Formats: sequence, structure tokens, C-alpha cells
Amino acid sequence: MTNVTRRKFILTGAGLSATAMFSPHIFAFNKPKEKLGVALVGLGYYSTDLLAPALQLTKNCYLAGIVTGTPEKAEAWKKKYNIPEKNIYNYKNFDQIANNPDIDVVYVVLPPSMHKEYTIRAAKAGKHVFCEKPMAMNVKECEEMIKACKDNKKSLSIGYRCQHDPNTQAFMRIAKEQSLGKIQLVSCAAGYYDKRTTHWKQNKALGGGSMYDMGVYALQGARLSVGEEPILVTAQHINNRPDIYHEVDETTNFQLHFPSGAIATCTSSFGIQSNFLKVNYEKGQLYMEPFSSYKGNKGYSTLGEINFALDSQQAKQMDEDAMSILKSQPQLVPGEEGMRDIRVVEAIYQAAKTGKSVKLA
Ligand code: NAD
Repeated sequence: MTNVTRRKFILTGAGLSATAMFSPHIFAFNKPKEKLGVALVGLGYYSTDLLAPALQLTKNCYLAGIVTGTPEKAEAWKKKYNIPEKNIYNYKNFDQIANNPDIDVVYVVLPPSMHKEYTIRAAKAGKHVFCEKPMAMNVKECEEMIKACKDNKKSLSIGYRCQHDPNTQAFMRIAKEQSLGKIQLVSCAAGYYDKRTTHWKQNKALGGGSMYDMGVYALQGARLSVGEEPILVTAQHINNRPDIYHEVDETTNFQLHFPSGAIATCTSSFGIQSNFLKVNYEKGQLYMEPFSSYKGNKGYSTLGEINFALDSQQAKQMDEDAMSILKSQPQLVPGEEGMRDIRVVEAIYQAAKTGKSVKLA
């Protein structure tokens, strides 16, 4: 039996879509830049606990600026990360970032309802964009974001950190090689217990809901392990805490049918702690738990153990995305990939609302 930890799971195609090439225009004093300056927009949990620390480890990019509506946060970050005053913006003067050569990339880390606006404003300001998941509220918004970046010859990548994780790349590779035969069944779940009651995750207008937030991980688990796009979905919402979850879904169960006949049964939740991926192939199986954590994703397949060490998933993601910009190459996870998920997410919400299956052409 081959030990997959010793095999080279080099991602050669799955998830990598041809995206329009862009002109980087990354020059400082007429010399090409070696490191890109990143400005984080939105200094909440993910920026504070994961992205800013990861930007201390990156080699191809660094924390150059911040955008925040809270002056106290600006002051604290300025001191902690030695950020020059001229690289600190608020939501009102954000567009002036266009005149700042220190900032090459704007990383949108805001509630999902704000992703479109800040991606488009950043692209119009002449900045490349990293945008967090879920990409946007609907496909139309995704299309507008992709168009704005293309029109301004800027790169757009979505913060699907797992696609940069060699453990995820292992099951993507198995799908691509079909070494275990066709996939018959995928079971996947992504969830945690959220104690909060008035956060944007419980607010529909801001882009809350477990399917948008955690469901995209389960959807990625299914799409990437099958290597196909679903053609039909069914879905059900379960709200065990209706006093909190009266606007958005607490838990969503969804089922996906793929062209090859594979089916996936998935769960996203703000009430149930769950983080696993199980795949039944014709000639074997794969089980990972956890499959979508920041660290320690691991499991096994019939081909062997899957347990690649990784210091910082976010540092690897941002370094690889920065390198794609520096080399003027397509992103590993371009806007088009974020939009593929949102297309299915929209169908899942429609299926849950109507109680009917929804076909995806
Ligand atoms: P958070 O609530 O902790 O932070 C959101 C930030 O947006 C805060 O600084 C808040 O002040 C700011 N903000 C500006 N306008 C706002 C408004 N009108 N309402 C609410 N907040 C507003 O959220 P977070 O957990 O950091 O998530 C931010 C984004 O990052 C989301 O898209 C989320 O899905 C994504 N995220 C991704 C991962 C990952 O693993 N890739 C993990 C966590 C979060």
C-alpha cells in the first residue's frame, strides 16, 4: 500500500481555472517588488487571530496597511504591527488607497454582504483583491466582482485556505487520477456551536446563515473530492434555536447529485460541532477528520495515510496568492471558483425554501 504522505500530491489542475491574465504593475522605484503590501479590511476575529499573525510569517507579502471603522483598533494595530499612519484607512476614505504605492493587495475580511462593495472599490483603486469566503450573497454579485477585477486588470482570489493545504490537495488528486475508481458517495459536515445571538452570522442582511458560512466548506469537500459540479440539489433547514435563528438557518442538510452518478450528503451547522469528510469510491474509501481545520487536517485513504504537516495554512495561502500576482499567473482559487460555490448555495437555499429539488444546468 502506498503511503500518501510520501507521495507527491502536486495539484496540477483540479480547482485551477483559467482566468484572465492581468498586468501586475508591481514596481517600486522602477524595480519589480519582491514582496507585496497587503491591507486588511475589517479587523475582526479572522484578521486579528489568523491573518495578521500569518502575515508575520509570509515571504511574498506583508502587512502594510489596515482599513477599520474603529479608531481604537487603528491605534492598537499601528503600535503592534508598526503600521505607518499613512497606511491606515477608514471606510469613508478607503478609496484614497488608490494613491498609496505601499498597498498592492486589499484583503476583504468583512461580513459577506460587504464583499462585493469592497472588492469593487479595491479593484477600481487599482489594487489586487483577496476576498474571504463566502465570496458574495449571490451569483450576480460574484459576476460583478469578477468583472470589476478584470476591467481593472487586477487579480481576484477567494480565501479558500484549504485548497492550499496539502491534505485537501490529496483528495483533490485522488479525484483527478481516479485511482480508486468512481466516487459513489460523499458524506461531509462542517459546523460548530455558536453561542452568539446578535452577530452578523445570525443576521440575514449581513450575509449570515450556516450554509453561507460553514456550508461552503462541506460543499467544497464534496465538489473537490468528486471533481465535478453538481447537477441537482435538495436541502432542508433545521433550526433548533428559533429564538436566535429566526432570520437565517442554524443547520442545513443538503444533498448533491453529480453527473457521474455520485451523490453527496452534507451538513452545515451553527449548532453541531462537526468536521469530517468521508468518500466511498468503487475501489476504496477516504476518511478525514478534521478535514477543514486551520491546522491538523488528517485521515487516511485506501492509498494510505493523509497527514501533511503545515505551519500556517493562511501564510501558505497568502504567499501562493501573492506569488501568482508577482508572476502574473492565474490564482489557484480565483473568483470563478468562489462563484461556483455561490451558484450551488443559491440553489440549496431555494431547495430548502420550496421543499423541491433544484436542477443546476
Ligand atoms: P468578525 O465579526 O469577527 O469581524 C468582522 C469585521 O467587520 C469587524 O471588524 C467589524 O467591525 C467589521 N464590520 C464593518 N462593518 C460591519 C457591519 N456593518 N457589521 C458587522 N461588522 C462590520 O467576523 P470574522 O469572523 O472575522 O469574519 C469576517 C470574514 O472572514 C467573513 O467573510 C468570514 O466568513 C471570513 N472568515 C473566514 C475564515 C476562514 O477560515 N477562511 C474564518 C473566519 C472568518
